[in-house]
Amino acid sequence: MKPPLKIFLCSPRGFCAGVVRAIDAVERALAKYGPPVYVRHEIVHNRYVVESLKSKGAVFVEELDEIPQTDAPVIFSAHGVAKSVSAEAQERKFLAIDATCPLVTKVHREAEIHWKRGRRVLLVGHSGHPEVVGTMGQLPEGAVVLVESVEDIDALSLPDENNLAYVTQTTLSLDDSQEIVNALTKRFPKIVGPHKEDICYATTNRQAAVKQVAPTVDAVIVVGSPNSSNSQRLREVAERAGAPAQLVQGRREIDWSIFSNIASLGITAGASAPEVLVEEIMDAFAERYDITVETVSTADESVSFPLPKELRALA
Ligand code: SF4
Repeated sequence: MKPPLKIFLCSPRGFCAGVVRAIDAVERALAKYGPPVYVRHEIVHNRYVVESLKSKGAVFVEELDEIPQTDAPVIFSAHGVAKSVSAEAQERKFLAIDATCPLVTKVHREAEIHWKRGRRVLLVGHSGHPEVVGTMGQLPEGAVVLVESVEDIDALSLPDENNLAYVTQTTLSLDDSQEIVNALTKRFPKIVGPHKEDICYATTNRQAAVKQVAPTVDAVIVVGSPNSSNSQRLREVAERAGAPAQLVQGRREIDWSIFSNIASLGITAGASAPEVLVEEIMDAFAERYDITVETVSTADESVSFPLPKELRALA
C-alpha cells in the first residue's frame, strides 16, 4: 500500500499574462507568416515551451547577428531588449515584433523619465539577467547603476546624492527587494521610487501563495527552469519559510532524497512553467504515494495583455 500524501497546490501558480502574450505572439507569427520565425533569446525561460515552439518552426538565437538577412519576423522575448537591439533590427530592416512584457516596458519608461528629469537611475536586480540587461540598455552606457544587495549600497559613491531614482527588476523576492529599498532610502533620503511597486503582480501573487503554504508542509517543489528568476525566488521563499524545496524542470529531476518520507507537499510553478509540467510532477508523486490534493488560493488573477500590434489582426 502506498503511503498517504497531502498535496497543497499553490494558486496562483504558473503562466502569467506576460508569458501567455509572448508565447501567443510566437504562435500567431508562425500562423501569419509561416516558419521560420526568429526569436531573440528564449521567449520565456522554460525549456519545454522553447522546445515545443522550435518543433513548430521557431528559431531561437541569442543575438541578431546569428540571423541571416531575411523577411521573416524577429521576435524579442518577454524579458525585453536594450535599445541597441531594436536599433540593430531596424538597421537590418527586420520585421521586428516586440513581445516584451508590458510590465517590463513600464519599468523601461520609468527609467527613461527619471533620466530625462536629470536623475541618476539605480536598478535593483540581478546582474546578467536579460531583463536587467534590457533595462540598463534603455539609457546610455553607464547611466544606470546596478544594485544587487545591501552591501552594494554601502559601497556606492555617486556624485549627486540628491538627484537619484530607483527602479527594480519585476521578478525579485519581495522581502529582499524591500530590504534593499529600505537601505537605499536610508542612505539616500531624497531618492525617488516608483509610484507603484515594479515587482509585478504575478511575482507578488506566486510568492504570497508559497509563503502561506510552505510553513504548513514537509517540503515544497517548484516547477520551473533554473534560469527563471521568478522560479528561483519561489524556491528561496519556500526555504526561508522553513520547507526544504527543490526547483525542477520535470519529473526526471525530482530529488527523491528530499521527497521520499513526507506526509505533505506544497507545489507551485514559476510564471514561465506550463501547467502540463505541474501535472507531470503530480503523476510522479501519485506513483509513489496515495495523494489527495487541495488548492490553496491566495489571490484571483484576471490580467491579460493584448498581442503586439503586428499580430492583432489575427486575434
Ligand atoms: Fe510580465 Fe511579471 Fe510575467 Fe515577467 S513575471 S512576464 S513581468 S507578468
